[in-house]
Amino acid sequence: MERMAIPVKDAVQLVMDHSKKRLDKEVIPLQAAYGRILVEPIIAKHDVPPFNRSAYDGFAIRAEDSAQVTTDNPVAFRVIGEIGAGHVGEQELQTGEAYRIMTGAILPPKADAIIMLEDTTETADGFSITKVFQSGDNISFQGEDAKEGEILIEAGSVIHPGTIALLATFGYAKVQVATIPKVSLVSTGTELLGVDEDLVPGKIRNSNGPMLQGQLDRMGVTYQSLGTMEDDLDACTVLITEALEQSDLVITTGGVSVGDYDYLPEIYRRLGAKVLFNKVMMRPGSVTTVAVLGNKLLFGLSGNPSACFTGFELFTRPAILAMMGCTTPYMPRMKAVLGGDFPKSNPFTRFVRAIWYMNGNVATVVPAGFNKSNAVSSIARGNGIIVFPADSSGFQTGMEVDVLLLGQEIGTKTWDL
Ligand code: AMP
Ligand code: MG
Repeated sequence: MERMAIPVKDAVQLVMDHSKKRLDKEVIPLQAAYGRILVEPIIAKHDVPPFNRSAYDGFAIRAEDSAQVTTDNPVAFRVIGEIGAGHVGEQELQTGEAYRIMTGAILPPKADAIIMLEDTTETADGFSITKVFQSGDNISFQGEDAKEGEILIEAGSVIHPGTIALLATFGYAKVQVATIPKVSLVSTGTELLGVDEDLVPGKIRNSNGPMLQGQLDRMGVTYQSLGTMEDDLDACTVLITEALEQSDLVITTGGVSVGDYDYLPEIYRRLGAKVLFNKVMMRPGSVTTVAVLGNKLLFGLSGNPSACFTGFELFTRPAILAMMGCTTPYMPRMKAVLGGDFPKSNPFTRFVRAIWYMNGNVATVVPAGFNKSNAVSSIARGNGIIVFPADSSGFQTGMEVDVLLLGQEIGTKTWDL
């Protein structure tokens, strides 16, 4: 099949056009919700906090009782009881009375200010103060965090620990989330050994399979791994056909180049899958191929580890997230200053595994080492990916570049590179 290279942005768009939201949803326990996608917005079921409460450990008073206080004229309060968090003080405060109160405790009737413990001097039956307090001082007001009925988090958001806290606040012991698309993984290559096998001449261990499993684990997506398959056209066709029957999405690595044993293009042809693209104007991973069959997606990632890794992050990850209705499927991006020279010219968009860090208060990024498409060591070191634009030549230390951030829970809504 003819190969026509298309820009990365167009390739991402093509994949996303075929990764529209699936409507399936399921109800799961809150404890199992990390990483899942919300199918309903989180709407405040009640005010947060649900009542006026003390922001500190101290004393609850009527602010007006402190009106005459000066440094020379301290005013004393009589303590009539104590309210720990979770308890209620029933008595209405009279002039000169106070409740001892703890952080988070509901204010007693008539109290409208909290005095911090540090601002008081102990007396026989209570305490005295030397400054005036205003109504509302040191109070967490009902509804100051969220008002009943307010839309707090939109549908399509990734559930992270903060989301879990909010769901728990409103009593969601169970959560409605998007179902996870069924994903199958196949590593192709006659040279591939299992992780537990000893090296023999000409063979290497399959690192892409476990790497992709890790990339899926990181996004909370379950999968079935169909292991490795040698470069045998018929056997590969059978395996991928089976994988497709059981999945919404099949990820393969290897076999998409133009070598004698690169059978994926022929397999797509045999399956009658429509190839969306089979060449992308990027390094590494220019041979990344994506095909569709019905509403199923086939990701033909390169066998070269760095290319495979990058292809997954650029195309597969946002596609899976979008299928689940995630509204922020793309890796976030930032600007950083190059901490070293990068003399290579970039005829195509170049994605370089990189390490970003703060140098003083300057976001700085350096390539993570050996960065050919067959590199595996730099993937292990990187926490981001530098993007050198197409048609650019040589970058020097101090120049500003784009960095895609790996492993972030919350992505961005648009692909804007
Ligand atoms: P291919 O895409 O099949 O042409 O493979 C490109 C390069 O990646 C070759 O050097 C392969 O040996 C290597 N490779 C292919 N699959 C894997 C894999 N699963 N793990 C590690 N390296 C691989
Ligand atoms: Mg191969």
